[in-house]
Amino acid sequence: MIKVAVSGFKGRMGSEVVRTVLAEKDMELVAVLDHEPTEKNIAELPEFHAENVPVYGDLGQLLSEAHPEAVVDFTTPASAYQNTKKIIEHGARAIVGTTGFTTEQIEELTHLAEAKQTGSLIAPNFAVGAVLMMQFAEKVAAYFPNVEIIELHHDRKLDAPSGTAVKTAEMISKTREKIKQGHPDEKETLPGARGADYEGMRIHSVRLPGLIAHQEVVFGAAGQGLTIRHDSYDRVSFMSGVTLAIRKTAELKTLIYGLENIL
Ligand code: NAP
Repeated sequence: MIKVAVSGFKGRMGSEVVRTVLAEKDMELVAVLDHEPTEKNIAELPEFHAENVPVYGDLGQLLSEAHPEAVVDFTTPASAYQNTKKIIEHGARAIVGTTGFTTEQIEELTHLAEAKQTGSLIAPNFAVGAVLMMQFAEKVAAYFPNVEIIELHHDRKLDAPSGTAVKTAEMISKTREKIKQGHPDEKETLPGARGADYEGMRIHSVRLPGLIAHQEVVFGAAGQGLTIRHDSYDRVSFMSGVTLAIRKTAELKTLIYGLENIL
């Protein structure tokens, strides 16, 4: 049995991970973390009344008392870096879905994971369909360097652009000729109208209630267009990627960024 803990267990993603881990036959949920816990055990919550899993308010205490092999983190951009560092320093595997990491932070955590010989994974998107969208976009960009990314999320999301959009832009930039798109003299009459600039391509962030996580990668060339779209209609779409990462990171001795690298 793989001993798993969930950080941010009351959140939209964290609660889905708790349900998933409880249902997996080869996993044991040994602890959960909340930054301001109001319960001592998840059994106090009606949905989990039949379970017996301690709730911690301190990650250090959780790691040294519950001894998880893997900790899944879906918290906030402000806390995920410190959480991930602490998990790896302790020698446990970090499986992180929280978005908003900088390139420098990912590099530093990778060095730390290598020094500790610990497998970990940070993935801005755990949905297999979203990973395929990014991989296909990387291929298309070799032929269609004019591209705009439109990401659409629920209006409770804290960071913009989404981690998936940034990762898509990074992957596209491996094959795309670096050109500045649009008219050379274009001017925004309303600031932000053309979106964020990533090496000359544009990223647009839509935030609306009712949405979960969606993205369109729109390519244009003379006389033709190609649009790749992925939709997560339900948070269950991320769970097969999370359980795969919990299992696969046991075989790694470094930190991997992106689910595509373990598929
Ligand atoms: P959410 O519903 O706001 O959940 C975050 C949870 O973490 C809340 O319960 C929050 O508590 C708790 N929390 C905040 N700081 C904490 C800390 N220091 N320690 C422990 N718990 C803490 O957000 P969400 O929609 O689940 O999203 C969480 C993150 O996952 C976001 O960064 C989002 O972009 C990302 N995400 C990633 C994927 C993917 O596939 N990688 C998919 C969807 C979302 P309070 O509410 O009390 O502050």
